Amino acid sequence: MARRAVDPPAVVYRNDPDIARATALATRAAIKAAVAETVAVSTYNRIVWTKSHFPTMLSLKVLDGEDGGGLGRLTARQRKNLLTDTSGLTALEEGDGILPSVERAEGTGRFRIAELTALFRSTVLPAQVEASTRGGYYRHWRGVVTWLLAHEVADEGLPMSLATLEALTMEWLIAGASVNTIKNMWSAVEDRHRMFGHQPPLWQPGAFRRRLKALSSIHGCPTKLVFPIGVHHIKAMLRLIGLSPLQQRNVILVAVGTVMCARPCEMPALQVCDVHWGVDAAFHSMFSDGIGLKVKKRKNDVERRGLMTRVPAGLLQRFMLAYVQEQRLMVNPRCTKADKPGARCPYCPPLFPKMILRPGQAPPRRDNGADARLAMSRQNVSTAVKSVMEMLDVDARHFSGKSMRRGGLSAAITAKVPAPILYLQSGHGKKKAAYAYIVPDDPTLLYMTGKAVLGMSVV
Ligand SMILES: [Zn+2]
Repeated sequence: MARRAVDPPAVVYRNDPDIARATALATRAAIKAAVAETVAVSTYNRIVWTKSHFPTMLSLKVLDGEDGGGLGRLTARQRKNLLTDTSGLTALEEGDGILPSVERAEGTGRFRIAELTALFRSTVLPAQVEASTRGGYYRHWRGVVTWLLAHEVADEGLPMSLATLEALTMEWLIAGASVNTIKNMWSAVEDRHRMFGHQPPLWQPGAFRRRLKALSSIHGCPTKLVFPIGVHHIKAMLRLIGLSPLQQRNVILVAVGTVMCARPCEMPALQVCDVHWGVDAAFHSMFSDGIGLKVKKRKNDVERRGLMTRVPAGLLQRFMLAYVQEQRLMVNPRCTKADKPGARCPYCPPLFPKMILRPGQAPPRRDNGADARLAMSRQNVSTAVKSVMEMLDVDARHFSGKSMRRGGLSAAITAKVPAPILYLQSGHGKKKAAYAYIVPDDPTLLYMTGKAVLGMSVV
């Protein structure tokens, strides 16, 4: 439905942060009130609001069977495309590197072409966006749907016209959304359109960028302050004495994470069988103590090559060795890593389990003999970073799980580790085709990043 172009309404602008804040709050309340008016009371009562800045439903499932807010004008398929949760892992991704078999639920029979196309779109295509990013997209999309309901235009969300997107953006701005939030919301809208075969509202070349530039120039784009973990922090934490086993685990986690330039989500994913003791020993005995830590899949590692990061021989390496022995973090005899290097091993324990064993305590096991210890969560990793910083008497407010990668990259760049070499440890930087083929025939180079982080002489 095409809307008549209207002149901007008469408005008052007031340059007062307090009034702006009050207006933002009032707008958010008004959106919720409008949703309450458009949907059935029974639906509204089931809505759980997230803590997001902009009114956002926690789940779109509550809208099943709801016809208000324009939902009644949608066909069954349109409704499904609008409301479906796109954040979960597809069955193929759950295989985590192993392609599961794909067959008809009711048994044999080849797939028709149209069915194969539909399967490809639903199971392979979503993987072009990292699962964590998809989660973010779905969160913003729920905010979009909430807004659509409040304006009773659920049928104008997918596809969405440029005019509707601009209206949506304006109201989010009035409601106090930051430029980053708007940018993520636009990406969510764009992603949803592509996923269901529609042309996104900002499809024209440069349209996204130009509008974002306009927004940033009037609004500013403050980023959350995150301090990197510095070389001096790492040196200090490795000198701490009298630590409990839990504190020891945290120190090793933070030091290893910084050496690896790891993202917070990569630490919980590390398993004992991703640790390659003496990985470069065969090259030269001087490397016999170096450790390789395999990251199965770095963000943007679209070929799923993985990355073998290195921890140089020295204090941290000796701490790691003592830690895995004390915590009985051993490779399980049924380990699958050799056969399926790209997949999670169902038998071996995580390198950083939540649970710390007491002296003499045996690790918990499942019936099939697998180690039952669970990995730390991302939140646990952030908490560990903060707690280690507090042990160093540092104000931990601005440190989080992200401080490790930021610290590792900073230390390596400061120590002038060449970009292609830093890439081998961090996967960081614009991917140049040649990077993927660099195989330094001298492992010294592979340890440069780790040495820079640990404050050791780089060459
Ligand atoms: Zn294993």
